[in-house]
Amino acid sequence: MRQYTYSNLTEEQIQKLCQRPKMDFNSIFEQVEPIIQRVTEEGDDGINHFTTKFDGVTPDPLVISPENQQINLDNKIKEAIDTAFDNIYKFHKAQLPSTLEVETMSGVECKRVTRPIQRVGLYVPGGTAILPSTLMMLGIPAMLAGCSTIAIATPPQKDGSIADEILYIAQKVGATHLLKAGGAQAVAGMALGTESVPKVDKILGPGNQYVTAAKMMLQNSEAQIAIDMPAGPSEVLVIADGSANPEFVAADLLSQAEHGKDSQVVLLATANFDWNTCKQAIAKQMDDLPRKEVAQKAIEQSFSITVENIEQAFTFSNQYAPEHLIIQCKNPQQFEEKIINAGSVFLGHWTPESAGDYASGTNHTLPTYGYARMFSGVSVDSFIKQITMQKITEDGLQALGPTVEKLAEIEGLQAHKNAVSIRLADINK
Ligand code: NAD
Repeated sequence: MRQYTYSNLTEEQIQKLCQRPKMDFNSIFEQVEPIIQRVTEEGDDGINHFTTKFDGVTPDPLVISPENQQINLDNKIKEAIDTAFDNIYKFHKAQLPSTLEVETMSGVECKRVTRPIQRVGLYVPGGTAILPSTLMMLGIPAMLAGCSTIAIATPPQKDGSIADEILYIAQKVGATHLLKAGGAQAVAGMALGTESVPKVDKILGPGNQYVTAAKMMLQNSEAQIAIDMPAGPSEVLVIADGSANPEFVAADLLSQAEHGKDSQVVLLATANFDWNTCKQAIAKQMDDLPRKEVAQKAIEQSFSITVENIEQAFTFSNQYAPEHLIIQCKNPQQFEEKIINAGSVFLGHWTPESAGDYASGTNHTLPTYGYARMFSGVSVDSFIKQITMQKITEDGLQALGPTVEKLAEIEGLQAHKNAVSIRLADINK
């Protein structure tokens, strides 16, 4: 871990530390383009071609209906999923927006109503591990929003099957289709629609570079789909003061580092934080990790900064805009107001990021790569549209009409003006 002192850093050095490793999508786009092309031309066969090539298995059938599947799950696993599911459901249900109604002038009523995005595609990564938690984070808000088509795409296992944990959650969220394919081919299938894959309006969910590239390319194509957000490697920034337990801090840093060699791990701490014990704890805890090699690479590339005070830590953190922000300080709530850019925040010594990753209730699909400056994580909002409505009475139009006529006149749009004038003339005849 590289170590810096905040007050010795120039503005240029700080900016450099805030930059993430460059993502070169050009070569990935070149690899993904023929995949999209083939799925466009061959539909299901095109998807199967690439699944056979990259995953070594040809699922048959390609698309299943989750509700008809037999599931054989250990009760303890079901209980853990059910507890997490209930918490995520509760927190996301509270996000459902209510209808907004405002009378802006007498007789001029404006309204905003909410409608679900009808058809959504949820990408659940599965190349290296099954990720039931990601399906809960996407499926629960989709169900609450009321999306009528909920298609899930996830890579099949070596024997062509789908993990029972995924099937169990797919049933709980009322998914309509489960596509046994991953990668760019699955994204293309859902964006374009094939014989058995429904075309969707929006694709959400994390994935590797091929998945991300396909989402980016299809968003800007005739497929006319929306995506949740661009995704980069996962990241955490921990702010610690003298009250922080260095073993806890080490555990939080490592829980991020084990995600991937490119994971971004940052520690900002005051001088009275127990740095030495933390370093020793990182080395000791890392030794016992099955993913030690991955965590070690990520930690080697990470950095820490000694700050003179917590103000400096928040100045840096807001500039960095981390996906996950952990605050291991005394009375952490006092700092809420200082947080301007972050995906999700974990306050206090007893709030590990893992709780939010799995089961506390908040969503774990979050903006990475500095996008927390302008993107929010996935929520019920990601699955809805807001439609505005208005209703004007005769009296209302008499009051508002002259304003509209004048503004239309300024803009030289005579037909706009006429649409009002013709009515006002009718009222006054
Ligand atoms: P994945 O499902 O994203 O990708 C696997 C698929 O990639 C395979 O099914 C295969 O069809 C395709 N593929 C493999 N090699 C290919 C090649 N050479 N060319 C084209 N396509 C190819 O699973 P993964 O690879 O394990 O990646 C999961 C990603 O999701 C990781 O980057 C992980 O960090 C990320 N993730 C992020 C979050 C989050 O919330 N930010 C959560 C979970 C996972």
